[in-house]
This record gives sequence, C-alpha cells and structure tokens, in this order.
Amino acid sequence: MAAERAGADIHEGTRVLAVDRISGSPVSDGSRFLIRTSRGDIHTKEIMLAANAWIRNIVPQFRQRVLPAESFIIATEPLPMELAQKLIPNNRVVS
Ligand SMILES: Cc1cc2nc3c(=O)[nH]c(=O)nc-3n(C[C@H](O)[C@H](O)[C@H](O)COP(=O)(O)OP(=O)(O)OC[C@H]3O[C@@H](n4cnc5c(N)ncnc54)[C@H](O)[C@@H]3O)c2cc1C
Repeated sequence: MAAERAGADIHEGTRVLAVDRISGSPVSDGSRFLIRTSRGDIHTKEIMLAANAWIRNIVPQFRQRVLPAESFIIATEPLPMELAQKLIPNNRVVS
C-alpha cells in the first residue's frame, strides 16, 4: 500500500472519537492536534479528514457544511427534441 511505503502507520478497526486542536502552548514535539480514538490518544502535526459524511460525528463544525447531493440517472425511450426541450428547458439538471 502506498501509504505504508511512505511510512504511515495503519490502525484498522480504530474509531476516531474526536479531533481537538491543541491551543495555547505547543506540545514539545510540535503536535497541533489531539486525536481521541477508541484505542487511545494520538498527538499529531497534520491530519487528513476522510470520513465521508460521518465527518460530522468527529468534527462537529462540519455539521453545517456537509449536505447530501444525490445523483440519479434515468433513461427514457428516445424523445422528440421538441418534447425533450419542453420537459428540460436549457438542458438543466433536474431532480
Ligand atoms: C451502494 C454504493 C454504491 C456506489 N457505487 C459507486 C460506483 O459505482 N462508482 C463510484 O464512483 N462511486 C460509487 N459510490 C460512491 C463511492 O463509494 C464514494 O463516493 C467513495 O467511496 C467516497 O470515498 P471516501 O474515501 O470519501 O469515503 P469512504 O469510502 O466512505 O471512506 C470513509 C471511511 O471513513 C471511515 N470512518 C468513518 N467514521 C470514522 C471514524 N469515526 N473513525 C474511523 N474511521 C471512520 C469509514 O469506515 C470509511 O472507511 C457508491 C456508494 C455506495 C454507498
């Protein structure tokens, strides 16, 4: 795996409970974040948040920033161009 080759430690089956920014005096190793997990705490300088829609459970600030964007595809029999343009003016996206 590319991440392991680059030196990453992989901790499967470990739930992130919270991500806190360390404020005030910096930790001696330069860490800026405290990650609370189901298997203990981690200090780190950098984080990448990649928990999809569940991010809101980890970083509450994302509750207001994540919204569902659904996509659907439907197929019909070939429609006459005039009818298609009437149903969907200007090729708008519809849902
Ligand atoms: C049924 C279905 C079919 C799909 N089909 C397609 C398709 O055919 N083609 C396509 O391009 N896309 C498809 N998608 C969409 C695609 O799966 C997503 O867009 C893609 O997986 C998103 O990748 P991601 O890395 O952002 O998130 P995810 O793949 O969802 O990864 C997020 C990870 O975060 C982990 N996580 C969440 N919370 C925590 C926590 N607190 N602590 C630790 N880990 C946590 C989760 O366990 C998960 O492993 C499909 C999705 C679904 C649901």
